[in-house]
Amino acid sequence: GKKSWRERLAGSAFARNLGALFSRKPKLDEALLEELETTLITADVGIAASTELVENLRKRVNRREFDDAGQLLTALREALLALLAPVAQPLQIVAEQKPFVLLMVGVNGVGKTTTIGKLARRFQKERRQVMLAAGDTFRAAAVEQLKTWGERNQVPVVSQGSGSDAASVIFDALQSARSRELDILIADTAGRLHTQTGLMDELGKIRRVLGKLDASAPHEVLLVIDGTTGQNAINQVRQFRAAIGVTGLVVTKLDGTAKGGVVFALAKEFGLPIRYVGLGETLDDLRVFDAAAFVDGLLP
Ligand code: GDP
Repeated sequence: GKKSWRERLAGSAFARNLGALFSRKPKLDEALLEELETTLITADVGIAASTELVENLRKRVNRREFDDAGQLLTALREALLALLAPVAQPLQIVAEQKPFVLLMVGVNGVGKTTTIGKLARRFQKERRQVMLAAGDTFRAAAVEQLKTWGERNQVPVVSQGSGSDAASVIFDALQSARSRELDILIADTAGRLHTQTGLMDELGKIRRVLGKLDASAPHEVLLVIDGTTGQNAINQVRQFRAAIGVTGLVVTKLDGTAKGGVVFALAKEFGLPIRYVGLGETLDDLRVFDAAAFVDGLLP
């Protein structure tokens, strides 16, 4: 069956180190607050979010609001939830926007292609008709991977030869999805070109060309971030936001070697909606982001 968030997140540095810290039944003192701060920073929560969280807790300790470490943990849970609640905004597919155009962006290796497959299956299960556009024309393997996946799952995939123009592939796909009255078009894009400006120019062109057919498209630009990349994730969001604009995030690979905390750092830094998180490699492991399930899965 479907694994719980806790089972999936148990291996993270966040869960392990916090668990170790509180299992020692520590005294509620400055040393505990210091250790908590170190734990958060080490778990990728980021300096800004970690110091602010602990400083707020310190003030409450100094005001004698808590007597013991257990109460501190309860207050920490509330503070972490407050940080994530505003970004836990599920993706809403607007039926009037037909097709609803979902543009997937992110650097290579983050799990973009597998996420596209998982999303397409999810939408299919909701009885929506999906089409894919193989817009990562820079990687022949990515085009093949999407085509094979589409054949296996009866999802049409629009592609052109490798090295073709991504904006043209996605434009054709939108025209085709329109004439077939499909519900959702998911467009893949390159995660790397010869140069950084090459990539950013290409994304800009895709947006302009889509806008010629449908001024409201893309309806969602989903940036896929690898949860194991730590603070580098912050730079990736900055770059893609500047290049094309980002309306939502998917954070993958939070199971396994991820430290777990990058989700908080992203929430604090950008406040962008986190639509989905990846808790493993199977279809069921792409979860709609649930702030409470996530926080409770990390805390002892
Ligand atoms: P792309 O280069 O961004 O298209 O990356 P892929 O979709 O090919 O994924 C790269 C690897 O990451 C694959 O082996 C995926 O199975 C794996 N992957 C993707 N999402 C997750 C996740 O949430 N958890 C784990 N453990 N692996 C994932």
